[in-house]
Amino acid sequence: MIDFHRHLDLYSEPSNITGQKVARNMYVLSVTTTPSAWCGTSALPPRNSKIRTVLGLHPQLAHQRIGELPLFDRYLSQTRYVGEIGLDGSKDCKPYWKEQLSVFEHILSSCSNEGGKIMSINSQRAATPVVDLLTTHPQAGVAILHWFTGSKGELKRAIELGCWFSVGPTMLQSRKSQEIINLIPKDRILTESDGPFAKVAKRMAMPWDAGLAVKGIADIWSMPVDEVDHLLHSNLRNLVSK
Ligand code: MN
Repeated sequence: MIDFHRHLDLYSEPSNITGQKVARNMYVLSVTTTPSAWCGTSALPPRNSKIRTVLGLHPQLAHQRIGELPLFDRYLSQTRYVGEIGLDGSKDCKPYWKEQLSVFEHILSSCSNEGGKIMSINSQRAATPVVDLLTTHPQAGVAILHWFTGSKGELKRAIELGCWFSVGPTMLQSRKSQEIINLIPKDRILTESDGPFAKVAKRMAMPWDAGLAVKGIADIWSMPVDEVDHLLHSNLRNLVSK
């Protein structure tokens, strides 16, 4: 199973989760929300696990943590993966739009200077400005738009730009998202849980809920589950070999 966007450090007992057999065998992108969380979160996965810790600065925290950008730049050479980053245009975050733009632009420039990274990106109510900034930073790396909720027009632009998409079980519940998933190129999709933020059946999403996304994608594409599972693993291999 693949969980390409999980906030492992925000579960109340992360070591409990990483220690579970099912979680140990999963390919996980353990995203962080602040550069200062990077060191502690990197120490969570057991040795030889398939968990990769990701350096991030969440757009919802941009105004509070903009001062941590030097720390971000200091750690950047230690990882191939960056996230959670991006822009958030929802009502509560819009007042800090200027700070969000500064942080995201800085991070994209830093990633370009480092030769490009694999990035997990939030584009909630901000798909157009996210795609605009990715367009002006073509060397920043591979962008994976997580939990994409933009329009079909915005999706088309993102696809043309070469973006990837990670899809979770919560996203599968909306009809609009199902239509979006149907339009995502089959060779540019991965699964995620976005736990513990996302909810599945009114409870906190657990890492293995990414498996529900495989089933949901298979239904939307009218394909057998094991074929979709095979495809997702081949996508992951392609992505990391870039
Ligand atoms: Mn997230």
